[in-house]
Amino acid sequence: MVLDSKWVLRNDKTYVVLYLVSSSETKVWILPAPLSYAIAFINGRNTFDQICFYIGKVFGIEKEFEAKQKTTKIINVLKHNGVGVSILAENQGYHPNIYETKDFFVPVRNYKGPFRNRLKVPTSINLFTTKKCNTNCLYCYADRRPDDQGNLLSMNEWKAIIDECIALNIWNIGLVGGDQLASSDSFAVVKYLLGKQVPVFISTKCEVTDKIAKDLVVAGFLSASLRNLNELQLSVDSANSRNADLLTGTSGFLERVCRSIDCCTAHGIVPKIKAVLTPFNYMEIEEIISYFSEKGIVDFQFVHCGRSYFKENKNLLLTEDMKKWIHDSKEQVLAKYPNFKITIQDEPPRNISRTEKIETWKRRAKCSGGYSSLTILPTGFVIACEQIPQIPQYFMGNIRDGGIMGVWNNEKIERFLFPEQSLFKGSPCGKCDEFVNCFDNAGFCFRDAIFAYDDIFQAPPSCPNQNRKPRRLS
Ligand code: SF4
Ligand code: SF4
Repeated sequence: MVLDSKWVLRNDKTYVVLYLVSSSETKVWILPAPLSYAIAFINGRNTFDQICFYIGKVFGIEKEFEAKQKTTKIINVLKHNGVGVSILAENQGYHPNIYETKDFFVPVRNYKGPFRNRLKVPTSINLFTTKKCNTNCLYCYADRRPDDQGNLLSMNEWKAIIDECIALNIWNIGLVGGDQLASSDSFAVVKYLLGKQVPVFISTKCEVTDKIAKDLVVAGFLSASLRNLNELQLSVDSANSRNADLLTGTSGFLERVCRSIDCCTAHGIVPKIKAVLTPFNYMEIEEIISYFSEKGIVDFQFVHCGRSYFKENKNLLLTEDMKKWIHDSKEQVLAKYPNFKITIQDEPPRNISRTEKIETWKRRAKCSGGYSSLTILPTGFVIACEQIPQIPQYFMGNIRDGGIMGVWNNEKIERFLFPEQSLFKGSPCGKCDEFVNCFDNAGFCFRDAIFAYDDIFQAPPSCPNQNRKPRRLS
C-alpha cells in the first residue's frame, strides 16, 4: 500500500511532517509520534496484512483482528484528512512514496514538535522571479515597484535555490509575482523546474505561442513527472472582447487567449481559465464557461476582485448585491456543467453576527508565511508571504546570506513572527490574553493587518476584538 503521490513524508530529525504538494492549498501536518510510526509502514512495499502485523507490534496489540481494526482506523484518519492510501499497482514503476520505513523513525524519547509550531525546514518556497508583465490590469495586486536592476539574482542563483529546495525535500516551489512568460529568464526557471520534475503552476496573461507550448512539452510539462501536477492557467476576465481589453488595459486580449488555447491544445496541453470578477463582468460567469468550453476547456475558476495595496481599485470591488447575484446563480451554473471543474468564490454576507464572527475567527487558517513557507524576491531579499509589501522593514534576510536555511534560521525571522506584545500598544492585541496562542498556533495574518490599517502591529479586521473600521479589502 502507498500514500498518494501528492503528499510528502519528511523526517525533520525530531518529528515527522506530512505535507501536500499543491499550488492552491496549504496542508502541513506535524504528525504525533504514534501516527508517524504507523504511516512509515505504508511505504509502497508492505501489503495491508503486513502493515497490520507491524502496527500490531508497535502498539502492543496481540490479536490479529484488533491490529486490523487499528490499521483501518489509521487509514481512515488519513483519508479524513485528505491523504489518499491505495494499493500500489504492480506495473506502477517509480512512485515518490516508496520508501524505507526506518528513514522515518524518530525515537520516541527524541520526538518533539518544532518550537512554536514553526517547522525546522520549510515545505514551500515561492520564487518571485520577475516583475515583468505584458498587461496593465485595472485590478493588479502585484507590487511592481522597480527593483535595483544591478542586484537581481542570476540564473545560476535561481538554479542553486531550486537545487537547495530539492535537497531539503521541499516540493512546493511556487512561481509568483509578475508573468513567468513575460521574461525569458523566468521561463528558463520554469524549464529548469520541469527538468528537475518539480511540479509547476504557470499563471499567465501572455500569449502562449506555438513555440512556447512546444518548449513546455519538450521541457517535460506533459511527461509523467514525480507528481503529475503541472498546470497552465490562462487569466481572462471576459468572453467579450471589449471587456477583456478594458480589464487588462490592452487591445486584442481575447483573440490572443484564443490563439493561446489553440497552440496549447495542439501540443496536448489543456489549460485552465481564471477570471477576476468585477462590476464589469460579474454576470458573465456562464458566458465565459460556454465560450471557452467550445475550445475544450473544462477547468474554470472565478474569484472576486480584492483590494490592491498598490493600485487604487476600489471601484472594481463587488457590491453586496453583486455578490448575492453570484451566490444565487452559482448552483444553476454548476448544474449545467456537471462534468467540469468549476470553482466560484461565494462569500458569506458581510453583516455577520458577532457570534458568527467569533466562530469564523476560531476556524481561521494558520499563517504559513515564515512558519512553513518563504518568498524570495528578484533581488534575493526574503519576505514571509508574497502579498506583504516589498520594503526593507519586512525583509527577513537575503538568500545570498547562507541560502534558504541561512535565512530560515536567522534571528530576524523569529523577531518578525513572534513580536513583543508591547509593540501592539493601542491595538486590541496589546492586552489580549490570546496573544501567544495567536502567533504560535491559531494564526495571525500580517498581510490583513497591513492592508486594512497600514500597520503590522494591529489586530486583523477579522479578529472579533478589533473594532476599528478597516479599509475595505474585498
Ligand atoms: S489578533 Fe485578536 S486574538 Fe490575536 S492577539 Fe490580536 S486581539 Fe488577540
Ligand atoms: S500573512 Fe496572511 S496571507 Fe500571508 S501567508 Fe500569512 S495568513 Fe496567508
